[in-house]
Amino acid sequence: MAVGFMLISIFLIQHSLATVVLNEEIHDPRCKSVEYGPDLPSASIIIIFTNEAWSSLLRTIYSVLNRSPVHLLKEIILVDDFSDKEHLKHKLDYYIRTRLPSKVHLLRLPQRSGLIRARLAGAKMASADVLVFLDSHCEVTEFWLEPLLQRIKESRTSVLMPIIDVISDESMEYMYSKGAKDFFQIGGFTWSGHFTWISIPPEEEARRGSSINPTRSPTMAGGLFAVERNFFWEIGSYDKDMDVWGGENLEMSFRVWMCGGSLEIIPCSRVGHIFRSFHPYTFPGGKDTHGINTVRLVEVWLDEYKRLFYLHRPDLLMVDFGNITERLEFRKKRKCKNFKWYLQNIYPQLFIPDENVQAYGRVRNNHMCLDTLQRHGKDAQYNLGIFSCNEQAVTTQFFSLTAAGELRHEDMCAEVLNYGADNVPMHVVMYQCHGKKGNQFWEILKSGEIVAKYSGLCLDSSDLQPGDDITASVCDGRRSQLWIWDNYIK
Ligand code: UDP
Ligand code: MN
Repeated sequence: MAVGFMLISIFLIQHSLATVVLNEEIHDPRCKSVEYGPDLPSASIIIIFTNEAWSSLLRTIYSVLNRSPVHLLKEIILVDDFSDKEHLKHKLDYYIRTRLPSKVHLLRLPQRSGLIRARLAGAKMASADVLVFLDSHCEVTEFWLEPLLQRIKESRTSVLMPIIDVISDESMEYMYSKGAKDFFQIGGFTWSGHFTWISIPPEEEARRGSSINPTRSPTMAGGLFAVERNFFWEIGSYDKDMDVWGGENLEMSFRVWMCGGSLEIIPCSRVGHIFRSFHPYTFPGGKDTHGINTVRLVEVWLDEYKRLFYLHRPDLLMVDFGNITERLEFRKKRKCKNFKWYLQNIYPQLFIPDENVQAYGRVRNNHMCLDTLQRHGKDAQYNLGIFSCNEQAVTTQFFSLTAAGELRHEDMCAEVLNYGADNVPMHVVMYQCHGKKGNQFWEILKSGEIVAKYSGLCLDSSDLQPGDDITASVCDGRRSQLWIWDNYIK
Protein backbone atom coordinates (compact mmCIF):
# COMPACT_ATOMS: atom_id res chain seq x y z
CA MET A 1 0.00 0.00 0.00
CA ALA A 2 2.67 2.42 1.11
CA VAL A 3 4.84 1.38 -1.81
CA GLY A 4 1.90 1.75 -4.14
CA PHE A 5 1.23 5.24 -2.86
CA MET A 6 4.86 6.19 -3.25
CA LEU A 7 4.88 4.97 -6.82
CA ILE A 8 1.78 6.96 -7.62
CA SER A 9 3.15 10.13 -6.08
CA ILE A 10 6.46 9.73 -7.93
CA PHE A 11 4.49 9.27 -11.09
CA LEU A 12 2.47 12.40 -10.34
CA ILE A 13 5.55 14.45 -9.56
CA GLN A 14 7.24 13.32 -12.75
CA HIS A 15 4.14 13.96 -14.75
CA SER A 16 3.60 17.45 -13.40
CA LEU A 17 7.28 18.26 -13.90
CA ALA A 18 7.03 17.10 -17.46
CA THR A 19 4.27 19.54 -18.21
CA VAL A 20 5.71 22.68 -16.65
CA VAL A 21 9.49 22.40 -16.58
CA LEU A 22 11.21 24.12 -19.40
CA ASN A 23 14.94 24.51 -19.18
CA GLU A 24 15.44 28.20 -18.47
CA GLU A 25 19.08 27.87 -19.41
CA ILE A 26 18.18 26.77 -22.91
CA HIS A 27 14.80 28.06 -23.95
CA ASP A 28 13.54 31.50 -24.68
CA PRO A 29 11.24 32.15 -21.67
CA ARG A 30 8.41 33.08 -24.02
CA CYS A 31 8.27 29.45 -25.19
CA LYS A 32 6.64 28.70 -21.83
CA SER A 33 3.41 30.38 -22.73
CA VAL A 34 2.98 28.62 -26.07
CA GLU A 35 0.14 26.12 -25.99
CA TYR A 36 0.08 22.97 -28.07
CA GLY A 37 -3.12 21.40 -29.34
CA PRO A 38 -4.41 18.15 -27.81
CA ASP A 39 -4.34 16.11 -31.00
CA LEU A 40 -0.89 16.50 -32.46
CA PRO A 41 0.31 14.11 -35.18
CA SER A 42 2.46 11.16 -34.09
CA ALA A 43 6.20 10.87 -34.75
CA SER A 44 8.67 8.24 -35.93
CA ILE A 45 12.16 9.19 -34.82
CA ILE A 46 14.79 7.88 -37.24
CA ILE A 47 18.33 7.68 -35.90
CA ILE A 48 20.96 6.47 -38.37
CA PHE A 49 24.48 5.56 -37.37
CA THR A 50 27.68 3.99 -38.48
CA ASN A 51 30.25 3.10 -35.83
CA GLU A 52 28.80 5.53 -33.30
CA ALA A 53 30.18 5.52 -29.75
CA TRP A 54 27.99 3.60 -27.27
CA SER A 55 27.54 6.51 -24.89
CA SER A 56 26.49 9.07 -27.48
CA LEU A 57 24.09 6.65 -29.17
CA LEU A 58 22.42 5.84 -25.84
CA ARG A 59 22.36 9.50 -24.87
CA THR A 60 20.42 10.21 -28.06
CA ILE A 61 17.97 7.36 -27.54
CA TYR A 62 17.32 8.05 -23.83
CA SER A 63 16.84 11.76 -24.33
CA VAL A 64 14.17 11.00 -26.95
CA LEU A 65 12.47 8.43 -24.70
CA ASN A 66 12.54 10.68 -21.65
CA ARG A 67 11.60 13.95 -23.27
CA SER A 68 8.94 13.04 -25.82
CA PRO A 69 5.28 12.62 -24.83
CA VAL A 70 4.56 8.88 -24.81
CA HIS A 71 1.41 9.16 -26.88
CA LEU A 72 3.15 11.15 -29.62
CA LEU A 73 6.26 9.00 -29.84
CA LYS A 74 5.11 6.12 -32.02
CA GLU A 75 8.52 4.54 -32.53
CA ILE A 76 12.25 5.04 -32.61
CA ILE A 77 13.87 3.45 -35.66
CA LEU A 78 17.60 2.90 -35.33
CA VAL A 79 19.31 2.27 -38.64
CA ASP A 80 22.73 0.66 -38.41
CA ASP A 81 24.69 1.49 -41.54
CA PHE A 82 26.88 -1.63 -41.43
CA SER A 83 28.93 -0.74 -38.35
CA ASP A 84 31.77 -3.06 -37.42
CA LYS A 85 32.41 -1.89 -33.86
CA GLU A 86 31.91 -4.77 -31.43
CA HIS A 87 29.65 -2.82 -29.04
CA LEU A 88 27.12 -2.25 -31.82
CA LYS A 89 26.65 -5.96 -32.53
CA HIS A 90 25.08 -8.45 -30.04
CA LYS A 91 25.49 -6.10 -27.12
CA LEU A 92 23.23 -3.55 -28.79
CA ASP A 93 20.65 -6.18 -29.79
CA TYR A 94 20.61 -7.51 -26.26
CA TYR A 95 20.36 -4.05 -24.72
CA ILE A 96 17.45 -3.05 -26.93
CA ARG A 97 15.64 -6.31 -26.23
CA THR A 98 16.07 -6.26 -22.49
CA ARG A 99 16.27 -2.60 -21.47
CA LEU A 100 14.35 -0.50 -23.94
CA PRO A 101 10.62 -0.29 -24.68
CA SER A 102 9.33 -2.33 -27.60
CA LYS A 103 8.79 0.78 -29.68
CA VAL A 104 12.56 0.97 -30.23
CA HIS A 105 13.40 -0.92 -33.43
CA LEU A 106 16.76 -1.70 -34.98
CA LEU A 107 17.22 -2.06 -38.71
CA ARG A 108 20.56 -3.49 -39.87
CA LEU A 109 21.66 -2.58 -43.38
CA PRO A 110 23.39 -5.50 -45.16
CA GLN A 111 26.11 -3.27 -46.62
CA ARG A 112 27.55 0.18 -46.05
CA SER A 113 24.97 2.45 -47.64
CA GLY A 114 25.87 5.98 -46.62
CA LEU A 115 23.71 8.39 -44.69
CA ILE A 116 21.35 9.17 -47.57
CA ARG A 117 20.31 5.57 -48.24
CA ALA A 118 20.31 4.85 -44.50
CA ARG A 119 17.76 7.62 -43.90
CA LEU A 120 15.70 6.34 -46.85
CA ALA A 121 15.67 2.84 -45.35
CA GLY A 122 14.50 4.22 -42.00
CA ALA A 123 11.81 6.35 -43.66
CA LYS A 124 10.47 3.32 -45.56
CA MET A 125 10.00 1.46 -42.32
CA ALA A 126 8.35 4.35 -40.48
CA SER A 127 4.60 4.49 -39.97
CA ALA A 128 3.83 7.59 -37.89
CA ASP A 129 2.41 10.83 -39.31
CA VAL A 130 5.70 12.71 -39.07
CA LEU A 131 9.31 11.63 -39.67
CA VAL A 132 11.92 13.16 -37.41
CA PHE A 133 15.54 12.49 -38.38
CA LEU A 134 18.35 12.76 -35.85
CA ASP A 135 22.08 12.09 -35.93
CA SER A 136 23.27 9.44 -33.49
CA HIS A 137 25.07 11.94 -31.22
CA CYS A 138 22.34 14.29 -30.09
CA GLU A 139 20.52 15.23 -26.92
CA VAL A 140 16.98 16.48 -27.34
CA THR A 141 15.71 18.89 -24.68
CA GLU A 142 12.38 19.18 -22.90
CA PHE A 143 9.54 20.12 -25.22
CA TRP A 144 11.61 19.57 -28.33
CA LEU A 145 8.94 17.56 -30.14
CA GLU A 146 5.65 19.37 -29.55
CA PRO A 147 6.57 22.61 -31.38
CA LEU A 148 7.66 20.61 -34.44
CA LEU A 149 4.48 18.52 -34.54
CA GLN A 150 2.27 21.56 -33.94
CA ARG A 151 3.81 23.39 -36.89
CA ILE A 152 3.44 20.40 -39.21
CA LYS A 153 -0.19 20.17 -38.19
CA GLU A 154 -0.62 23.81 -39.27
CA SER A 155 1.50 23.54 -42.39
CA ARG A 156 2.14 20.09 -43.81
CA THR A 157 4.49 21.33 -46.54
CA SER A 158 6.94 22.87 -44.07
CA VAL A 159 10.17 21.00 -43.41
CA LEU A 160 11.33 21.91 -39.93
CA MET A 161 14.56 22.21 -38.02
CA PRO A 162 15.02 22.72 -34.30
CA ILE A 163 17.62 25.21 -33.13
CA ILE A 164 20.76 23.08 -33.08
CA ASP A 165 22.85 23.67 -29.96
CA VAL A 166 26.47 22.63 -29.59
CA ILE A 167 27.50 19.68 -27.47
CA SER A 168 31.26 19.89 -26.89
CA ASP A 169 33.13 17.02 -28.56
CA GLU A 170 35.69 17.17 -25.75
CA SER A 171 33.71 17.48 -22.52
CA MET A 172 30.39 16.20 -23.98
CA GLU A 173 28.80 19.16 -22.21
CA TYR A 174 25.59 20.71 -23.58
CA MET A 175 26.71 24.28 -24.26
CA TYR A 176 23.97 26.61 -23.09
CA SER A 177 24.14 29.92 -24.89
CA LYS A 178 25.10 32.52 -22.34
CA GLY A 179 23.68 35.45 -24.27
CA ALA A 180 20.19 36.26 -25.49
CA LYS A 181 18.03 33.16 -25.83
CA ASP A 182 16.44 34.44 -29.00
CA PHE A 183 19.70 34.54 -30.96
CA PHE A 184 20.14 31.92 -33.63
CA GLN A 185 21.16 31.75 -37.25
CA ILE A 186 19.64 30.30 -40.40
CA GLY A 187 21.24 28.25 -43.19
CA GLY A 188 22.98 29.59 -46.28
CA PHE A 189 25.51 28.21 -48.73
CA THR A 190 28.64 29.24 -50.59
CA TRP A 191 29.28 28.96 -54.33
CA SER A 192 31.85 26.28 -53.61
CA GLY A 193 28.92 24.13 -52.45
CA HIS A 194 29.25 24.36 -48.69
CA PHE A 195 26.59 24.92 -46.05
CA THR A 196 27.08 28.00 -43.85
CA TRP A 197 25.23 29.70 -41.00
CA ILE A 198 24.06 33.23 -41.80
CA SER A 199 22.20 35.91 -39.87
CA ILE A 200 18.47 36.40 -40.23
CA PRO A 201 17.84 39.27 -42.67
CA PRO A 202 15.71 42.19 -41.39
CA GLU A 203 12.92 41.35 -43.89
CA GLU A 204 12.53 37.89 -42.38
CA GLU A 205 12.61 39.29 -38.85
CA ALA A 206 9.75 41.57 -39.83
CA ARG A 207 7.78 38.84 -41.62
CA ARG A 208 7.91 36.29 -38.78
CA GLY A 209 6.93 38.84 -36.12
CA SER A 210 8.07 37.28 -32.86
CA SER A 211 11.51 35.66 -32.68
CA ILE A 212 9.91 32.49 -31.31
CA ASN A 213 7.84 32.08 -34.49
CA PRO A 214 8.83 29.81 -37.40
CA THR A 215 11.76 31.43 -39.17
CA ARG A 216 12.40 30.72 -42.85
CA SER A 217 15.80 29.41 -43.78
CA PRO A 218 17.26 29.18 -47.32
CA THR A 219 19.01 25.89 -46.48
CA MET A 220 19.19 23.19 -43.82
CA ALA A 221 22.15 21.76 -41.95
CA GLY A 222 20.99 18.27 -42.77
CA GLY A 223 21.05 15.90 -39.83
CA LEU A 224 18.14 17.08 -37.68
CA PHE A 225 14.75 17.76 -39.21
CA ALA A 226 11.06 16.90 -39.16
CA VAL A 227 8.82 16.38 -42.17
CA GLU A 228 5.30 15.05 -42.68
CA ARG A 229 5.75 11.44 -43.79
CA ASN A 230 3.75 11.55 -47.02
CA PHE A 231 5.16 14.93 -47.93
CA PHE A 232 8.69 13.55 -47.58
CA TRP A 233 7.94 11.12 -50.43
CA GLU A 234 5.91 13.61 -52.50
CA ILE A 235 8.69 16.16 -52.48
CA GLY A 236 11.25 13.66 -53.77
CA SER A 237 12.69 12.12 -50.53
CA TYR A 238 16.42 11.96 -51.35
CA ASP A 239 18.71 11.33 -54.29
CA LYS A 240 19.43 7.66 -53.54
CA ASP A 241 22.53 7.73 -55.71
CA MET A 242 24.35 10.08 -53.38
CA ASP A 243 27.04 8.21 -51.44
CA VAL A 244 28.24 8.24 -47.82
CA TRP A 245 28.04 11.87 -46.68
CA GLY A 246 27.60 15.42 -47.94
CA GLY A 247 25.55 17.58 -50.28
CA GLU A 248 22.20 15.95 -49.54
CA ASN A 249 21.24 18.82 -47.25
CA LEU A 250 21.62 21.47 -49.96
CA GLU A 251 19.88 19.17 -52.45
CA MET A 252 16.91 18.85 -50.12
CA SER A 253 16.93 22.59 -49.37
CA PHE A 254 16.76 23.72 -53.00
CA ARG A 255 14.26 21.00 -53.89
CA VAL A 256 11.90 21.79 -51.02
CA TRP A 257 11.79 25.51 -51.79
CA MET A 258 11.70 25.18 -55.58
CA CYS A 259 9.03 22.45 -55.61
CA GLY A 260 6.41 23.99 -53.34
CA GLY A 261 7.53 23.42 -49.76
CA SER A 262 9.33 25.59 -47.24
CA LEU A 263 12.15 25.25 -44.73
CA GLU A 264 11.75 26.71 -41.27
CA ILE A 265 13.56 26.80 -37.97
CA ILE A 266 11.24 26.34 -34.99
CA PRO A 267 12.91 28.31 -32.19
CA CYS A 268 11.12 26.68 -29.24
CA SER A 269 12.45 23.26 -30.26
CA ARG A 270 16.09 22.79 -29.27
CA VAL A 271 18.36 19.81 -29.83
CA GLY A 272 22.05 19.52 -29.00
CA HIS A 273 24.43 17.93 -31.51
CA ILE A 274 28.07 16.94 -31.12
CA PHE A 275 29.91 18.83 -33.83
CA ARG A 276 33.01 16.82 -34.68
CA SER A 277 36.10 18.01 -36.45
CA PHE A 278 36.59 14.72 -38.30
CA HIS A 279 34.56 11.82 -39.67
CA PRO A 280 34.89 8.76 -37.42
CA TYR A 281 34.16 6.44 -40.35
CA THR A 282 35.66 5.51 -43.70
CA PHE A 283 34.79 6.79 -47.16
CA PRO A 284 34.79 3.60 -49.25
CA GLY A 285 37.11 3.94 -52.23
CA GLY A 286 38.53 7.18 -50.75
CA LYS A 287 36.03 9.18 -52.81
CA ASP A 288 35.26 12.86 -52.27
CA THR A 289 31.58 12.08 -51.79
CA HIS A 290 30.77 15.64 -50.75
CA GLY A 291 32.20 16.91 -54.04
CA ILE A 292 30.54 14.28 -56.23
CA ASN A 293 27.16 14.53 -54.46
CA THR A 294 27.34 18.30 -54.84
CA VAL A 295 27.96 17.98 -58.58
CA ARG A 296 24.81 15.82 -58.79
CA LEU A 297 22.70 18.47 -57.10
CA VAL A 298 24.32 21.31 -59.03
CA GLU A 299 23.54 19.57 -62.33
CA VAL A 300 19.91 18.99 -61.30
CA TRP A 301 19.01 22.25 -59.55
CA LEU A 302 21.35 25.16 -60.30
CA ASP A 303 20.52 25.90 -63.97
CA GLU A 304 22.87 28.54 -65.41
CA TYR A 305 24.21 29.33 -61.93
CA LYS A 306 26.21 26.13 -62.05
CA ARG A 307 28.87 28.26 -63.75
CA LEU A 308 29.61 29.81 -60.36
CA PHE A 309 30.01 26.44 -58.69
CA TYR A 310 32.48 25.28 -61.34
CA LEU A 311 34.32 28.61 -61.21
CA HIS A 312 35.02 27.78 -57.57
CA ARG A 313 35.50 24.04 -58.09
CA PRO A 314 37.13 23.59 -61.52
CA ASP A 315 38.58 20.35 -60.17
CA LEU A 316 35.08 18.82 -60.33
CA LEU A 317 34.31 19.72 -63.95
CA MET A 318 35.31 16.30 -65.29
CA VAL A 319 34.24 14.13 -62.39
CA ASP A 320 31.99 11.10 -63.03
CA PHE A 321 28.77 11.90 -61.17
CA GLY A 322 26.65 9.03 -62.51
CA ASN A 323 23.14 9.20 -63.90
CA ILE A 324 20.75 11.99 -62.85
CA THR A 325 17.87 11.33 -65.25
CA GLU A 326 15.46 10.30 -62.50
CA ARG A 327 16.08 13.50 -60.56
CA LEU A 328 15.68 15.70 -63.64
CA GLU A 329 12.44 13.90 -64.42
CA PHE A 330 11.18 14.51 -60.90
CA ARG A 331 11.90 18.22 -61.24
CA LYS A 332 10.06 18.38 -64.55
CA LYS A 333 7.05 16.32 -63.47
CA ARG A 334 6.61 18.30 -60.30
CA LYS A 335 6.98 21.59 -62.25
CA CYS A 336 9.49 22.97 -59.80
CA LYS A 337 10.54 26.60 -60.08
CA ASN A 338 13.98 27.59 -61.38
CA PHE A 339 17.07 28.51 -59.43
CA LYS A 340 16.85 32.18 -60.34
CA TRP A 341 13.46 32.25 -58.60
CA TYR A 342 15.05 30.63 -55.55
CA LEU A 343 17.86 33.18 -55.45
CA GLN A 344 15.54 36.14 -55.91
CA ASN A 345 12.83 35.06 -53.49
CA ILE A 346 14.38 32.79 -50.91
CA TYR A 347 18.00 33.93 -50.69
CA PRO A 348 18.14 37.47 -52.13
CA GLN A 349 21.02 38.39 -49.83
CA LEU A 350 23.35 35.82 -51.42
CA PHE A 351 26.26 37.48 -53.19
CA ILE A 352 26.53 36.47 -56.84
CA PRO A 353 30.21 37.06 -57.63
CA ASP A 354 29.86 37.81 -61.34
CA GLU A 355 26.70 39.94 -61.25
CA ASN A 356 26.79 43.66 -60.41
CA VAL A 357 30.58 43.68 -60.36
CA GLN A 358 33.36 45.65 -62.07
CA ALA A 359 35.82 42.76 -62.12
CA TYR A 360 36.08 39.19 -60.83
CA GLY A 361 38.24 36.06 -60.75
CA ARG A 362 41.91 35.84 -59.79
CA VAL A 363 43.70 39.07 -58.93
CA ARG A 364 47.28 38.72 -60.18
CA ASN A 365 50.52 40.56 -59.76
CA ASN A 366 53.31 38.85 -61.69
CA HIS A 367 52.95 35.16 -60.65
CA MET A 368 51.29 35.90 -57.31
CA CYS A 369 47.55 36.12 -56.65
CA LEU A 370 45.41 37.43 -53.81
CA ASP A 371 44.48 34.40 -51.71
CA THR A 372 42.41 33.79 -48.58
CA LEU A 373 45.06 31.21 -47.58
CA GLN A 374 42.17 28.93 -46.52
CA ARG A 375 41.33 31.35 -43.73
CA HIS A 376 37.85 32.10 -45.05
CA GLY A 377 34.71 30.65 -43.51
CA LYS A 378 36.34 30.09 -40.12
CA ASP A 379 36.55 33.31 -38.14
CA ALA A 380 34.78 36.65 -38.01
CA GLN A 381 37.85 38.23 -39.62
CA TYR A 382 41.09 37.18 -41.26
CA ASN A 383 44.12 38.72 -42.90
CA LEU A 384 44.04 38.65 -46.68
CA GLY A 385 47.08 36.88 -48.11
CA ILE A 386 48.96 36.18 -51.29
CA PHE A 387 50.03 32.93 -52.94
CA SER A 388 51.35 31.55 -56.20
CA CYS A 389 48.56 31.80 -58.76
CA ASN A 390 46.56 28.66 -59.34
CA GLU A 391 45.98 27.61 -62.93
CA GLN A 392 42.30 28.41 -62.49
CA ALA A 393 40.36 30.56 -60.04
CA VAL A 394 39.85 28.20 -57.12
CA THR A 395 37.80 29.38 -54.13
CA THR A 396 40.73 30.83 -52.22
CA GLN A 397 41.72 33.02 -55.18
CA PHE A 398 38.27 34.09 -56.35
CA PHE A 399 37.48 37.75 -55.64
CA SER A 400 35.12 40.40 -56.94
CA LEU A 401 35.32 44.18 -57.12
CA THR A 402 31.62 44.90 -56.80
CA ALA A 403 29.68 47.69 -58.49
CA ALA A 404 29.48 49.28 -55.04
CA GLY A 405 33.30 49.22 -54.77
CA GLU A 406 33.82 46.31 -52.39
CA LEU A 407 36.85 44.05 -52.70
CA ARG A 408 34.91 40.99 -51.82
CA HIS A 409 35.16 37.24 -51.12
CA GLU A 410 31.78 35.66 -50.34
CA ASP A 411 30.37 37.76 -47.46
CA MET A 412 33.69 39.26 -46.46
CA CYS A 413 35.01 42.62 -47.62
CA ALA A 414 38.55 43.99 -47.49
CA GLU A 415 39.56 46.83 -45.17
CA VAL A 416 42.99 48.33 -44.57
CA LEU A 417 44.00 47.94 -40.95
CA ASN A 418 45.57 50.80 -38.98
CA TYR A 419 45.76 53.18 -41.90
CA GLY A 420 47.40 56.45 -41.10
CA ALA A 421 50.94 55.72 -40.00
CA ASP A 422 53.23 57.08 -42.71
CA ASN A 423 54.99 54.73 -45.09
CA VAL A 424 54.39 51.63 -43.03
CA PRO A 425 52.88 48.79 -45.09
CA MET A 426 49.52 47.85 -43.63
CA HIS A 427 47.73 44.53 -43.43
CA VAL A 428 44.44 44.06 -45.22
CA VAL A 429 41.70 42.46 -43.15
CA MET A 430 38.56 40.70 -44.39
CA TYR A 431 35.48 41.63 -42.35
CA GLN A 432 31.76 41.04 -42.74
CA CYS A 433 30.61 43.36 -45.58
CA HIS A 434 28.70 46.33 -44.19
CA GLY A 435 27.54 47.87 -47.48
CA LYS A 436 28.30 51.41 -46.33
CA LYS A 437 31.35 52.06 -48.52
CA GLY A 438 33.60 53.94 -46.04
CA ASN A 439 36.57 51.74 -45.10
CA GLN A 440 35.33 49.02 -47.46
CA PHE A 441 35.36 51.21 -50.57
CA TRP A 442 37.92 50.36 -53.26
CA GLU A 443 38.71 51.53 -56.75
CA ILE A 444 40.55 49.90 -59.66
CA LEU A 445 42.66 52.39 -61.62
CA LYS A 446 43.17 51.97 -65.39
CA SER A 447 46.88 51.49 -64.75
CA GLY A 448 46.07 48.50 -62.46
CA GLU A 449 46.34 49.82 -58.91
CA ILE A 450 43.67 48.72 -56.42
CA VAL A 451 43.14 51.67 -54.12
CA ALA A 452 41.49 51.73 -50.71
CA LYS A 453 39.79 55.09 -51.01
CA TYR A 454 39.45 55.71 -47.27
CA SER A 455 43.21 55.61 -46.68
CA GLY A 456 44.39 56.20 -50.25
CA LEU A 457 46.72 53.19 -49.97
CA CYS A 458 47.39 50.65 -52.74
CA LEU A 459 47.52 46.84 -52.57
CA ASP A 460 51.20 45.98 -52.81
CA SER A 461 53.01 42.65 -53.20
CA SER A 462 56.56 43.95 -52.78
CA ASP A 463 58.95 41.77 -50.75
CA LEU A 464 56.23 39.18 -50.16
CA GLN A 465 56.53 35.41 -50.35
CA PRO A 466 53.69 33.00 -51.15
CA GLY A 467 51.70 32.52 -47.94
CA ASP A 468 52.41 36.01 -46.59
CA ASP A 469 49.74 38.54 -45.67
CA ILE A 470 49.15 41.11 -48.40
CA THR A 471 50.02 44.71 -47.57
CA ALA A 472 48.75 48.14 -48.54
CA SER A 473 51.23 50.97 -48.99
CA VAL A 474 51.50 54.48 -50.38
CA CYS A 475 50.60 54.47 -54.08
CA ASP A 476 53.58 55.23 -56.30
CA GLY A 477 52.85 53.21 -59.45
CA ARG A 478 55.55 50.61 -58.87
CA ARG A 479 55.07 47.19 -60.48
CA SER A 480 54.17 45.45 -57.26
CA GLN A 481 51.05 47.67 -57.10
CA LEU A 482 49.75 46.82 -60.59
CA TRP A 483 47.19 44.02 -60.66
CA ILE A 484 45.39 42.14 -63.40
CA TRP A 485 41.92 40.64 -62.86
CA ASP A 486 40.76 37.59 -64.83
CA ASN A 487 37.59 39.36 -65.97
CA TYR A 488 36.58 43.00 -66.29
CA ILE A 489 32.97 44.10 -66.84
CA LYS A 490 32.61 47.34 -68.71
N1 UDP B 1 26.23 8.09 -41.15
C1 UDP B 1 25.82 6.87 -41.66
N2 UDP B 1 26.51 6.32 -42.72
C2 UDP B 1 27.58 6.96 -43.30
C3 UDP B 1 27.96 8.22 -42.79
C4 UDP B 1 27.26 8.76 -41.72
O1 UDP B 1 24.86 6.27 -41.17
O2 UDP B 1 28.16 6.42 -44.24
C5 UDP B 1 25.48 8.69 -40.03
C6 UDP B 1 26.34 9.14 -38.85
O3 UDP B 1 26.56 8.08 -37.95
C7 UDP B 1 25.49 10.26 -38.27
C8 UDP B 1 24.80 10.84 -39.50
O4 UDP B 1 24.91 9.87 -40.52
O5 UDP B 1 24.51 9.77 -37.37
C9 UDP B 1 25.44 12.13 -39.96
O6 UDP B 1 26.83 11.99 -40.11
P1 UDP B 1 27.86 12.92 -39.31
O7 UDP B 1 27.37 13.12 -37.93
O8 UDP B 1 29.23 12.36 -39.50
O9 UDP B 1 27.72 14.24 -40.15
P2 UDP B 1 27.97 15.72 -39.56
O10 UDP B 1 26.98 15.94 -38.46
O11 UDP B 1 29.38 15.74 -39.09
O12 UDP B 1 27.72 16.56 -40.78
MN1 MN C 1 26.48 14.71 -36.83
